Amino acid sequence: MTVRQGREFLSIPGPTTVPDRVLSAMHHPAVDIYAGELLETTMTCLGDLKKIFRTQGETYIYAANGHGAWEASLTNCLSRGDKVLVLESGLFAVVWGEMAGVLGLDAEILPSRPRRAVDPEALEARLRADSHGEIKAVLTVQIDTASGVVNDIPALRRAIDHAGHDALLMVDTIASLACMPFEMDAWGVDVAIAGSQKGLMVPPGLSFVAANDKARQRHQSAALITRYWDWTMREGPEHYMKYCGTAPEHMLFGLRESLDMLLEEGLDNATHRHALLAGATRAAVACWGQGGTMEFNILEDAERSNSVTTVRINGADPARLLEFCKDHCGVILGIGIGPELTGKAIRIAHMGHVNAPMILGTLGVLETALVALDIDHGRGGIEAATASLGAALAQQNRETA
Ligand SMILES: *Cc1c(COP(=O)(O)O)cnc(C)c1O
Repeated sequence: MTVRQGREFLSIPGPTTVPDRVLSAMHHPAVDIYAGELLETTMTCLGDLKKIFRTQGETYIYAANGHGAWEASLTNCLSRGDKVLVLESGLFAVVWGEMAGVLGLDAEILPSRPRRAVDPEALEARLRADSHGEIKAVLTVQIDTASGVVNDIPALRRAIDHAGHDALLMVDTIASLACMPFEMDAWGVDVAIAGSQKGLMVPPGLSFVAANDKARQRHQSAALITRYWDWTMREGPEHYMKYCGTAPEHMLFGLRESLDMLLEEGLDNATHRHALLAGATRAAVACWGQGGTMEFNILEDAERSNSVTTVRINGADPARLLEFCKDHCGVILGIGIGPELTGKAIRIAHMGHVNAPMILGTLGVLETALVALDIDHGRGGIEAATASLGAALAQQNRETA
């Protein structure tokens, strides 16, 4: 006997829960790809993506996952042999850098401080040492979904500017867009990329790139350009070429709905919602951590992301904990990933279409599992979570009163 009948909660850091509104919008007959409503859908999605990235630059939609957008960013701006500087802060920037290597770029990794965000001073020092301007692009993630860190993108921009370096700043916002503030133009980001299946609440299968004038200028002389990813082809007047072939119609219907939902809620309200739910999660984890078994992966509180919390499990089996949550209680949490955290951590996602009952329910199940499996933990995690959320909402009400 279990207590898992009822709605299952998928609490992994991507794909995230797809809202019923998005699912319904996708339940739609196929339409003409040369005329009619689809053309309008493409144009409004491209325009609204600019609002989400907060940019006046160009946006592109690919029928691809996030790895496709990585490839698009590199091939559109760079040439074989160019050096790119990869800012390690967990797993994902490094994998992006590996892709750069396969493409024939010279990917240098700026190593991270253990369990910390990228150090802007280290970036500035490395760029100052690059007196011949060999580094053509700096690659970083805003949130690393493996480590749970959030990098300070404006500080990284300042580091590049202080060094007087003209490398492009490319930022992977796959796990942060619509979850934490991101201001492409105000922060001086040249290329930003995102995927459909995280904060944007659409099934996996679409990814997005935004590029400013500086990046599009570099594009003019880039030699790695390939037909499928090519921005110039996609900027042409013909709708068919915007996708280099048949448009991923149903994904676009879903995207249209999710963009409507985000704009109805307000982007700032959406990121604030994530901050409150992440705060409740961190309050519970901090409390549980007093038992000695559970520990935040990221050492500095200010560097912990609002879309995923990575928790190290010392002296207990994370797989058993996750299995219990899933098989007995119907909550699917994330496994630890990457060389450092595989088999040693769990990841609690609070990303995308999530509200208070979903997060409090997830945390409640985790605490239930800690009790049932007799894993050492500090008592009162749920009380700490509700106290955190209650106080934050009370303050919110006072501010809007
Ligand atoms: C999920 C994720 C990716 C990979 O996206 P895919 O769609 O699986 O290719 C890349 N970067 C970050 C930060 C992510 O969270």
